[in-house]
Amino acid sequence: MGRIIQLDKHVADLIAAGEVVERPASAVKELAENSVDAGATGITVEIKRGGLEMIRVTDNGGGISPEDVPAAFLRHATSKIRSERDLEEIRSMGFRGEALASIAAVSKIEMFTRQAGRTEGVSYELHGGEEVSRSPAGCPVGTTVIVRELFYNTPARMKFIKRDVTEAGQAASVVRRLALANPGISFKLIKDGETVLHTPGDGLLKSAVYSVCGGTFTSGLEETRAEHEGIRVYGFVSKPLYGQGNRTKQEFFVNGRPVKSPLLGAALEEAYKNSIMQNRFPACVLHVEISPAVVDVNVHPAKTEIKFAYDRSAFDAVYLAAKSAVSGGDSAAELTFSPSPKSDFQESYEQARLVRAPAGNSAGGTADRKSGGGSGNGGFYKEMSAPEFRSDGALPGVVGDSAFSPALNQVSFGGYKTGDIPLVEEWRILGEAFSTYIIVEDGDDLCFIDKHAAHERIIFERLKEEAAKPVSQVLIKPVIFTPERGELTALLNDMELLCDMGFDAEEFGGGSIIVRALPGDLDGADAEASLQEIARLLTENRRMSVQDKRDGTLSLVACKAAMKAGSIISYAEQRALVERVLRIGDIKYCPHGRPVLSVMKKSELERKFGRIQ
Ligand code: ADP
Ligand code: MG
Repeated sequence: MGRIIQLDKHVADLIAAGEVVERPASAVKELAENSVDAGATGITVEIKRGGLEMIRVTDNGGGISPEDVPAAFLRHATSKIRSERDLEEIRSMGFRGEALASIAAVSKIEMFTRQAGRTEGVSYELHGGEEVSRSPAGCPVGTTVIVRELFYNTPARMKFIKRDVTEAGQAASVVRRLALANPGISFKLIKDGETVLHTPGDGLLKSAVYSVCGGTFTSGLEETRAEHEGIRVYGFVSKPLYGQGNRTKQEFFVNGRPVKSPLLGAALEEAYKNSIMQNRFPACVLHVEISPAVVDVNVHPAKTEIKFAYDRSAFDAVYLAAKSAVSGGDSAAELTFSPSPKSDFQESYEQARLVRAPAGNSAGGTADRKSGGGSGNGGFYKEMSAPEFRSDGALPGVVGDSAFSPALNQVSFGGYKTGDIPLVEEWRILGEAFSTYIIVEDGDDLCFIDKHAAHERIIFERLKEEAAKPVSQVLIKPVIFTPERGELTALLNDMELLCDMGFDAEEFGGGSIIVRALPGDLDGADAEASLQEIARLLTENRRMSVQDKRDGTLSLVACKAAMKAGSIISYAEQRALVERVLRIGDIKYCPHGRPVLSVMKKSELERKFGRIQ
């Protein structure tokens, strides 16, 4: 190796540029973020050939004064922070002052900008970071930056660039994310002459989500919000039935900045445990508002990663927001308030909290249980022991309502009274359709309850409650079960888990297993089929956590034990089911994510028959 020398400015600039501008999408991101910081209400991004031929970003923001324009292209030149202290409370998207310098170093760049109140603007052009021209120009208020021939002087970087469509796709995701982050700004994206995205910029997150993600996707989302230890979370999360095949549709924004955060993703998914089908993932567009002093956006040059000073609070806030949507289910849709995150946030938030108190309450109960705390709603489920539920004819006893505080008596949630349980119900069972759906008239609602799904969920919750002391039934004649080889290993590995659930089973030799006792809810005739399904679950999900394996197995048992669609049940059984579904906010989905309840409004029916318009 030779002597140590300081790199000349040109080489140093190219290296620094490489850190900020990896690909066309990074340039798009930096330029559009500058427009956001400039207070624009309209931002148009135009790209040609994936951004390699041209990127043009036009905004109607504050503009730059002619004297300042050259400085904007200097490294570490920024108008956004002044001192070390400012670094602690960053509210702008940019602050490093290196984006324009970096993009300019590796392209031919031109800027037109005019500030309001000035008669004239300026045009400024650089090639490879060197000034080519500067002159007064007539242009609209705001700033336009045109980047041509990106990476023309860095052939090494060019090698890492993918096909135009791939690059264009990346650039489009950047704009989509910014649009979701800033519902108050109208974003337009033009790709090779075609407008592919245009958000209204009306300040409503829902409008932005609709424009960016489309109507079908949006209809699978539920609006939600929560506040926890000073952290506000609002936005949209999947209805459990609308889980996605992967995690790519989980969008988080912290203080308006799109971020990647495994922590927040985990919190979201935790809320869907046992409410979503296996291998499905919730989608979300969630905004998190937190004091800038307790987040560190400085960890990554591209600033997409983020660190929270108090991980636990951020986790809980997102968990609670998602959980209340999962528990609230369809009914929550009836309680939508104008989604205006920027204006009146506090007011609508307070309103939300009041109206949705029961949902919040049940979410809290779940959280308690998770951390091993109080009984919450658990005690409520437990009241419905299997024998009582299965008793024919006799009306089930009135169920205790200790789970709900008297303060909530008058609160109506989705039309259901959640306070005192009246001796005479306000609802009436009209009958059962196709021996599958119990039909109930409840005030102005016509409710359809999937009896299998509802029963399954109820049993599942009770089994979880009983986990510490499972009820087991000894078989008169032990069952000998011979699984496939791989499945045998999986079963033997998780034998302890099976025993915890009430199975008494052990290896019998010759590749088989002898089962002497079953969980109390299972019918002896179901023993083999249940074991078969459990074996498959355990084999296919070897790497699942013990908790997930347990939940998965319990949900299989619950499914087997639940009354079947098509079965004939007594009026008492119908009543017991309806009572629980209508009274408890969070029996909205079976453990596999299918809905338990579907509601048709009286008005919907009246519209169908032309009684009202
Ligand atoms: P940073 O955004 O980190 O401050 P940049 O290199 O991206 O650094 O921009 C340098 C400066 O140029 C900004 O601080 C801002 O003052 C100004 N600037 C850049 N783009 C715009 C724009 N679209 N409108 C107004 N000012 C801009
Ligand atoms: Mg910037």
